Amino acid sequence: REPQRLAKVLAAAGVASRRTSEELIFQGKVTVNGSVCTSPQTKVDISKDSIYVNGNRISKKLPPKLYFAVNKPKGYICSCGEPKSVISLFDDYLKGWNKIQPGVPKPRFFTVGRLDVATSGLIIVTNDGEFAQKLAHPSSNITKEYVVTIDGAVHRNHLIAISEGTKIDGVKCVPDLVEPLDVQTNTKRTRLRIVVHEGRNHEVRELVQNAGLEVYALKRVRIGRFRLPADLGIGKFIELKQADIKSLE
Ligand code: URA
Repeated sequence: REPQRLAKVLAAAGVASRRTSEELIFQGKVTVNGSVCTSPQTKVDISKDSIYVNGNRISKKLPPKLYFAVNKPKGYICSCGEPKSVISLFDDYLKGWNKIQPGVPKPRFFTVGRLDVATSGLIIVTNDGEFAQKLAHPSSNITKEYVVTIDGAVHRNHLIAISEGTKIDGVKCVPDLVEPLDVQTNTKRTRLRIVVHEGRNHEVRELVQNAGLEVYALKRVRIGRFRLPADLGIGKFIELKQADIKSLE
């Protein structure tokens, strides 16, 4: 393995995020081969160099890169550390880690992009930071499909207004597809399929609200060519195989 930057190695070893690892290094909490190292750029080889953080030895093994599709429940948030975070759904999995992979450090998971707390459905969880950044970046142009439940009836002019798009953070966002999923009767609620590719915060809610409609529920059902498996229960996850990971792009 090629030597890599110290901050990157610490993040990959599951010590902390890249940024927090950099802070630990700046604060003099990290030693390499017995000397304090205050430069996150220092190249190290985890299999040869002896690295300590706060006096604890970093394992020479790195956790494997893992990828999961999660069916996010409504009410869960996408940042770590909160009691009802998407990552907390992995608590039991991580508790059993030492039985599955003895001697291998635990992976440090995060979500790829975000869903609003009130949104449910497909979200990817991984410990692969580069993959997450690439996929979540707006320039990736990956399509995402949502099922939006609207409070009330939806008329043709609403559909036209949604499909014309709206400005979010100064960027015009136009959906790739808007279509009703229910035959219009005088129903209390109407479901729409909306496909977007911008990846802006609150994009779907903005599109719908700007057309004068009220969102009752929002669920993501697809990212790229990967569809949320119909049999994946709420709050459950499955590990993705290589072909699934490819299909996300
Ligand atoms: N668009 C939204 O408005 N909310 C989400 O959670 C995702 C996309």
